[in-house]
Amino acid sequence: MKKIVCFLLCLVFLPVLSSCKKDNESRNLVNLYLTFSEDMTVDGVMEYVFTSPKNDLSTCVFNLYPNAFKGSSPVYESDFSLAYPNGFSKGYIDILSVKEGGEKASFTVNGINEQTLTVFLTKQLKKGEKSSLYIEFKTILPNAYHRFGYGDDTVNLSGFYPTPCIYENGEFIVNAYYPAGDPFYSECKDYTVTLSVPSDYSVASSLTPTGTVWSGGETEYSYERKNVREIAFVLSKKFEIAKCNHNGVEISYYYYDDENPEKTLETAKQSLEYYSNEYYKYPYGEYVVCEGDFLYGGMEYPCLSLISDSAYSERDYVVAHETAHQWFYGIVGVNQSEIGYLDEGLTEYLTISFLSDRGDGDYGEYVKTAKREYLDVKNALVYQGVTTPPIMERNLKDFSSEIEYVMIAYKRSLIAIDGLKGYVGDKKFKKALKKFVSEKAFSNATTDDFISVFDKKKRGAGKFFKDFVQGKAEVIY
Ligand SMILES: [Zn+2]
Repeated sequence: MKKIVCFLLCLVFLPVLSSCKKDNESRNLVNLYLTFSEDMTVDGVMEYVFTSPKNDLSTCVFNLYPNAFKGSSPVYESDFSLAYPNGFSKGYIDILSVKEGGEKASFTVNGINEQTLTVFLTKQLKKGEKSSLYIEFKTILPNAYHRFGYGDDTVNLSGFYPTPCIYENGEFIVNAYYPAGDPFYSECKDYTVTLSVPSDYSVASSLTPTGTVWSGGETEYSYERKNVREIAFVLSKKFEIAKCNHNGVEISYYYYDDENPEKTLETAKQSLEYYSNEYYKYPYGEYVVCEGDFLYGGMEYPCLSLISDSAYSERDYVVAHETAHQWFYGIVGVNQSEIGYLDEGLTEYLTISFLSDRGDGDYGEYVKTAKREYLDVKNALVYQGVTTPPIMERNLKDFSSEIEYVMIAYKRSLIAIDGLKGYVGDKKFKKALKKFVSEKAFSNATTDDFISVFDKKKRGAGKFFKDFVQGKAEVIY
């Protein structure tokens, strides 16, 4: 995600083990049959074909992110009016039935704000054994300018279906929504989707279109996408589309309020090409950027970036940032609830490298600005009595405010990564980062995975970086 934060305003108002890479054969499958209706609901059936990760598996667990929007606002008070310009509006998901094979399966919905669905399997599964769950659900969208919700211009559909939890170290990892950061952690899966919408809507999708059928004012789109963590759609009656094809990737820009869409499309294309050349070839056939009603600057999904229609002067920066997330979040995943800093810091590093290399700003100045903003916020927090050590590896629930999260996950993390680059040297740094991406592509990484590639380049590199992660290293302007 890209948080556009006005630091001056904020100062005034502020109050494991990594999972394994899976091959084509063993990736779990998600098949979704969806109908979006004008009353801002989605009726859906999800087929989840999964392989048991252990012996005697008796449950399967899913995150129900829509329920984070049910009882109260999932944003900090300071962002409430941006998320809910028309006042609070409720969103949620109802689980109507669950079947395993043809048999009815029992389930519970519980956890923080009922964000966890636990399905009790009809029989225990052995390790490697496959099963299929059929989950019938109804999702009600809130009038919220968020990842999940609708505004005046777009309908944002992400996390609107039961999201399979990753299984790790003997348990399913349940990630609840908190106001700070992106609470996502998942493994790559294969998807097929049919989505019916009223025909006056255009659909920006994170998948490859495979068919379209028009009938009685409804359009049914078919899609597929292999080897991605999640999927997302943005719907609008106002979309215009600019497209280009570059190195076999179709790049599309869906917009409705951009005076220079060709410029935005060009930034998407150039940044995609830059990161592809520098780190790892973009592995999919399509990349979509779209404008939307969104309270922050932008939000990343595999193969799709949502850019807030209110990102005007900083639009290029946001597009470059969200595109960089295709590598850090999309290709290499992390548990964003625990180490979101690694995603955001690396994404910021890629962004400023791309922009400065194409002549938009100076790399050193970007880092200096990050340091100045970091220290300004740190001092303001101390003044307000917030004395939490600047530990980067901490759960989203342990951040006191949006500005503290931005200071740690974006600014301090970028500063630490830039410091690491200085410690090991530019060439070795780039080589190590490239190795990190190729080693962890399509799986999930930890802090230790990250530092181990740099430790091999120069002794002490790991400790240097960990001192930042653990809040011990000082930031000096
Ligand atoms: Zn981001």
